[in-house]
Amino acid sequence: MSLNTSLNEPIHHVVIVGAGQAGYQVAASLRQEGFAGGITLIGDEPGLPYQRPPLSKAYLLGKIGTTSLRFRQPEFYEQNRITLVNDQVTAIDRLQRQVKLSSGGTLGYDHLVLATGARNRVPVVPGTELDGVFGVRTLADADALAPRMAEVKHVVVIGAGFIGLEFAAVAAAKGVAVHVLEMGQRVMARAVTPQTSELFRSAHQAWGTQLDFGHSVARIVGDANGRVSGVETEDGRLLPAELVVYGIGVVPNTELAAAAGLDVHNGISVNALLLTEDPAISAIGDVVSFVSPYCPRPIRLESVQNAADQARAVAARLMGKPADFTALPWFWTDQGDLKLQIAGLLDGHDEVVLLGSAAAKQMSVLCFRQGRLIAVESSNRTPDHMAARKLLARATPLTPAEASAPDFDLKAYELASREAV
Ligand SMILES: Cc1cc2nc3c(=O)[nH]c(=O)nc-3n(C[C@H](O)[C@H](O)[C@H](O)COP(=O)(O)OP(=O)(O)OC[C@H]3O[C@@H](n4cnc5c(N)ncnc54)[C@H](O)[C@@H]3O)c2cc1C
Repeated sequence: MSLNTSLNEPIHHVVIVGAGQAGYQVAASLRQEGFAGGITLIGDEPGLPYQRPPLSKAYLLGKIGTTSLRFRQPEFYEQNRITLVNDQVTAIDRLQRQVKLSSGGTLGYDHLVLATGARNRVPVVPGTELDGVFGVRTLADADALAPRMAEVKHVVVIGAGFIGLEFAAVAAAKGVAVHVLEMGQRVMARAVTPQTSELFRSAHQAWGTQLDFGHSVARIVGDANGRVSGVETEDGRLLPAELVVYGIGVVPNTELAAAAGLDVHNGISVNALLLTEDPAISAIGDVVSFVSPYCPRPIRLESVQNAADQARAVAARLMGKPADFTALPWFWTDQGDLKLQIAGLLDGHDEVVLLGSAAAKQMSVLCFRQGRLIAVESSNRTPDHMAARKLLARATPLTPAEASAPDFDLKAYELASREAV
């Protein structure tokens, strides 16, 4: 029997708002856990739930099609009695335990899961409405963007974060001249160490991309037909561009929760069980600000791992197996021939040890805080990443001195330390 935690009431119907990575996974996991009641998955994007990561990588390169993007094909939802509703939830009535739909109806719930994700932050400069200016968040964005890439000679990318650089790598591979404008002084500065930034800077430059640090955009310029023709930088240069792609971060979709009176601080606030202050409402994925044992302050993460693991945790709780959410965060990005995988959170690291070689494009950066391993960035070194995930999850005693030994091998260390336990 599934129960609303702390309410001790049976759950006959779970409604999930948002049919992205987290929403899909909680529906699938509920059935896997044996939930027998009704599941309604409401999403405002057309079509079946799909994965976003390939949108800026394999899908944009034309290596995979729409069918492969989907988590599951239509039969899965029928067989698992997951009702898909293509609509937008416009309000939550917490007293009546109902959601309102933009099409006019209402839907009752015993438990509500908010998985509304995030949307792209749009640069606050003139010209973003011009034809040829894109963010990459949805399948519709990628479908509009992909054919344009075959038509253009110059692209300006605003922001050297994961998504901007993934797109830059794809555009460069297609022979387009790419100019990346980045306000900061290095690539992926918010997410990676200077050592990994440097490896990726050098690779992007080798692929022909121009990286322009310390500069931002003043306005996007168009022609008489309303098509983008260039980008004016704040230091007065005019960069030619028939296509502009921005990747300057996201804004969590918290409005629905806030309007329902739920606490929102850089995301919907949840406790260690991923419950909001309303015991009949959970929240998961990109939209959530949560407490992690890997971070001293509440954190909001944008990753497949976080969305999927939180979904599984909520499904397990609803099926009577409550547990604090303690999953180790991990991330990846693919850019050209580089695969970067990050295990753990590197905030506050004060010492690093490098394994491998940047010149060979195979390097891991082990990040320590006060002598304790807290994160590992692995570029084209997947065995290190897999070992790091296991070591970090069990708080390894590995020291910087041990990791600095010539011939130190992280995978071998992990195996040996496992056997010693
Ligand atoms: C281009 C791209 C590449 C990425 N690459 C990687 C990667 O390489 N590795 C990685 O770990 N992560 C990557 N990510 C991040 C990852 O995809 C997200 O962290 C993940 O999708 C978050 O899942 P979510 O379900 O929380 O949110 P989302 O996937 O954003 O889903 C939320 C859904 O809810 C819908 N919604 C919102 N409000 C309502 C409403 N009121 N009513 C109905 N529906 C609503 C939204 O339209 C959306 O469809 C990438 C993201 C993008 C955009």
